[in-house]
Amino acid sequence: MSASAQAGRLTPATALPPGMSEASFGAFIAALADALGPAAVATDPATLREFRDPFAYRGDDRRDYSAVVSPVTTGQVQAVVAIARAFGVPLWTISQGRNNTYGGPAPRVRGSVLVNLRNMNRILEINRELAYVVVEPGVRWSDLASALAADGGQLWTSVPDFGWGSVIGNSLDNGIGYAPRGDHAANLAGLEVVLPDGSVLRTGFGAHPGNPAWHAAPRGFGPSVDGLFLQSNFGIVTQAGYLVSRTPEAYAACQFDFRGYDALATVIDVLREEMLTGVVTNYPTLFRGVERTEGELVMTPGSDGWAGRCAFYGTLARVQTDIATARDRLGTGAGIDLDATIFAGDDLAGPASHDERVQRGIPAVQLGDPDKLPFGPNFAHLDHAVVVPQLGSAVAAAERLITAHYAAREFPLTGGILLRGRSALVISSTFFDVSDEAMTASAYASYEDLVEAFAAQGILPYRTNLDNMDAVAGHLSFGEDALPRFLRTLKDALDPAGIIAPGKSGIWPSPA
Ligand code: ADP
Repeated sequence: MSASAQAGRLTPATALPPGMSEASFGAFIAALADALGPAAVATDPATLREFRDPFAYRGDDRRDYSAVVSPVTTGQVQAVVAIARAFGVPLWTISQGRNNTYGGPAPRVRGSVLVNLRNMNRILEINRELAYVVVEPGVRWSDLASALAADGGQLWTSVPDFGWGSVIGNSLDNGIGYAPRGDHAANLAGLEVVLPDGSVLRTGFGAHPGNPAWHAAPRGFGPSVDGLFLQSNFGIVTQAGYLVSRTPEAYAACQFDFRGYDALATVIDVLREEMLTGVVTNYPTLFRGVERTEGELVMTPGSDGWAGRCAFYGTLARVQTDIATARDRLGTGAGIDLDATIFAGDDLAGPASHDERVQRGIPAVQLGDPDKLPFGPNFAHLDHAVVVPQLGSAVAAAERLITAHYAAREFPLTGGILLRGRSALVISSTFFDVSDEAMTASAYASYEDLVEAFAAQGILPYRTNLDNMDAVAGHLSFGEDALPRFLRTLKDALDPAGIIAPGKSGIWPSPA
């Protein structure tokens, strides 16, 4: 159904933008439909429902959208921003909107209009020589992985667990993968951004028309502003350069397991040294609550067993040497055996388990059979991910805090630790049933308590869900809130009416 046809038939349940009458909302929708074509604008309940936070209580209407608009060009994004500014309507952007556990595609402000970039999904360039790509926001990890394989397989990319999210959305939100380029935000190499005033900014050497080094030398000349568009609400990113890796001659997937906090602290320290000396070049992951049963590693929430994985890449000789070094150090340092399986670097069919595949840049499709999940189709999880220095003592202390927190609550503790060399992401996950209001509220309350318990120890999450952004930002108080004040000054200068994603990362414009 066309947007203009829809606009006259809004049901009372439809969330209107804050302070807007039905009549001016109708005019706003008509203006969008005129600019982008009616098929690009939707207000029907079924479409709006598709973009709910899947991990919010089913009856929660605090984040309902008023409309969804799906531009496919930078010019159309500019038009959407101009119309939203003229009518004073808040927007919220998604690339794929699979940011599940952090709010999925949902906005902070009820009645916002979703700028859905799923259909703006071209891979604009694959640069084989310099190992980068240029992508639009809707390009998914699975699209990029397949395109690189189809392009001759000389390049590959780090991916998160699931292939359905986008390269740009995940990277802008500081998402992570498990390969040597697993710090996805660090791979962003030159952004094109639509600013709240409607102008199009290109960062770095992108500001110099025709400069061929834009994506090869992302900082360019002068102050580097790329970081201002990460986890922020200063603009809408419409394309990005993205660094990828050369396919190695050999790839090895390794696993190991151990038990208890003491071994955990040793493993963290040994792996830090392996990473800082360049033996381990990927992002190893440790999973808590795993038991070795008849040779198989089995998830067993509550157990003090751990499973770990890491990987090696390079010439066959180098991979063999690195495995031997790592095996020796983990064996001598922590009494741990390392199991290694070596594949040809270009063998995409050999790696079979998720661990083997994801460290080689082969993402899983998406969540498997819902009937196999706890709570079936009502399954949801809240992940709490704090950043601690990669010191055995610091990680073990974080683990003790988490274990005590969960022991005092109804939820079993799951999750793990991602190692980045100098820092570790300690991730605890709570599973709950989104059709159960009390259980959902209790999961969110538990999360909030955990944020405060860690903040009291001087530790914060690197990313958080929509409900907790203000609370986390509220802890950035050094220098009489100098950082939040700086960000608000920028917000007021760039977007005084708060059109772009108000509230993202706790950044709001000053009251009018
Ligand atoms: P994914 O594609 O991994 O599912 P999302 O689309 O959910 O990621 O985006 C993750 C976060 O980044 C969201 O908070 C979203 O608002 C923000 N974001 C996503 N795409 C853009 C973009 N193109 N420009 C600005 N912010 C974006």
